[in-house]
Amino acid sequence: MKQKVKSTPLRLRSPPVVEANHLYCYNLPEIVYLIAYLCAVIQYDKYEAVIGLEVHAQLLTKSKLFCGDSAAFGGDPNTHISPITLAHPGTLPMMNKQAIEHAIKLGLTLRCDIEQQNYFARKNYFYPDLPKGYQVSQHTTPICKNGHVKIKVEDTERNIRLNRIHIEEDAGKSLHDVDENFTAIDLNRAGVPLLEIVSEPDLHSSDEAFAYLTELRKLVRWVEVCDGNMEEGSLRCDANVSVRLKGDIKLGTRVEVKNLNSIRNVKRAIDIEIKRLIEIVESGNKVIQETRSFDADNNTTFSLRSKEEADDYRYFPEPDLTPFNITDEFLQQVKESLPALPEALEKKYKDVFQLSDYDAQMICQDKTMVDYFEATIKHSNHYKAVVNWLIGPVKSYLNHHNIELNGFALKPQQIAALVQLIDDGKVNFNIASTRIFEALLKETNKEPLQIATELNLIQDSNADNLAVWVDEVIAKMPDKVKEYKSGKKGLIGLFAGEVKKISKGKADMQLVNKLLAEKLN
Ligand code: ADP
Ligand code: MG
Repeated sequence: MKQKVKSTPLRLRSPPVVEANHLYCYNLPEIVYLIAYLCAVIQYDKYEAVIGLEVHAQLLTKSKLFCGDSAAFGGDPNTHISPITLAHPGTLPMMNKQAIEHAIKLGLTLRCDIEQQNYFARKNYFYPDLPKGYQVSQHTTPICKNGHVKIKVEDTERNIRLNRIHIEEDAGKSLHDVDENFTAIDLNRAGVPLLEIVSEPDLHSSDEAFAYLTELRKLVRWVEVCDGNMEEGSLRCDANVSVRLKGDIKLGTRVEVKNLNSIRNVKRAIDIEIKRLIEIVESGNKVIQETRSFDADNNTTFSLRSKEEADDYRYFPEPDLTPFNITDEFLQQVKESLPALPEALEKKYKDVFQLSDYDAQMICQDKTMVDYFEATIKHSNHYKAVVNWLIGPVKSYLNHHNIELNGFALKPQQIAALVQLIDDGKVNFNIASTRIFEALLKETNKEPLQIATELNLIQDSNADNLAVWVDEVIAKMPDKVKEYKSGKKGLIGLFAGEVKKISKGKADMQLVNKLLAEKLN
């Protein structure tokens, strides 16, 4: 399809090429032309990018989609295989119920319509790591339709529509780098259940694609249907990218980029493609539909194959599997098994616990955080303080030591006890979040109060003691007191600091400030 480029300010052929093997002299028109070419400024912002993502999510089932072989990641090559995985003649597939349950879970989470009459189809193609010579997939009846993923970029919320989610089986892996002369095949992955989640071409920037994938990964993990690990390939993404002049309705010719093993790389590849496609159109050339691969080391993409004609997969209904019917009862059962979803929880935390937007979002970033928060507030109703602990000292400790929250050594009760210690005026947040927290992590069987006592950190709130210290400081600094009284009110910090020093950090500073103000005024 030809792009409209009439309004391009300057359209030029590619500059003349210098042959390496003979001297080439530019003539004057060519020099003028070359300068014009180099000066031509491409107006990238005249264009709108259009992006649709295809995501494959490996389902967290124990066994494969159509047989009892292990669906676990890795394992020694070709150890998770039986005659069924190997497609020996006479073997027959049997449906994995949990895969269907997972598909419904994700579909409901993404507000899809669930197809209750499901069929499988054979998608025929030849590939060395596909023993049957076809992939069992869903063709005309994807289990989920419609629905959307909600994204937020720079405070703007958008719903990215889903075209479909269907169940299919994964292929094996061809390994090209284990032998010099041969390609090795590992069929452990062959037959592992996948969901293919296809978006409508609703995304318009790499930032939106980033937000979409981040949200999708969060949700597949939330409802525990996929571990979301892109490096291990349990979540994989192909990005379809095209460009068109802003205001155009018709879609441009798309390219599809593969081999994107992190969300960051999806973003990088999309940026590269948007720029490359605009430059093709601006130079008056035509985009050809093709499949490209991302080369992360060189920050570039290269063509794998052109896709001028549609692939012919010769789909037909899978004769070895009966259609399966999802009953209303089963659907209801799955619905009831869903955990509270982040959107609803965020709302509850804001409405009921009076948390700020930011705090609610931070807690709802992943389910382990929500679970930990919920467990902590069973022992403390100071919600805001609990949030401060979790997104403050706890989070930075975990980041610093590269630990996941579910491997965190402190129990929710201990965090609640730290909050209580501060609320009781026994220590301040500073002391609690540094010295007590650190000591607690070294002796996780102790209680915060015990540690505070042992380390002699319980602050002094005894008014008589405090008054002695305050008087001492006031007597020690008559000049400063004079300055204070003549209007330099900022000096109160100096006095407070002195009291803190004398008390060896144990004075209750809230009371100290109150006393100082009383005595000085
Ligand atoms: P295929 O299975 O051949 O890749 P689909 O029609 O299923 O084709 O589309 C795959 C993805 O490509 C979808 O996410 C869709 O939104 C996206 N897409 C389709 N056309 C375009 C386009 N012109 N520009 C960008 N994305 C597109
Ligand atoms: Mg595709």
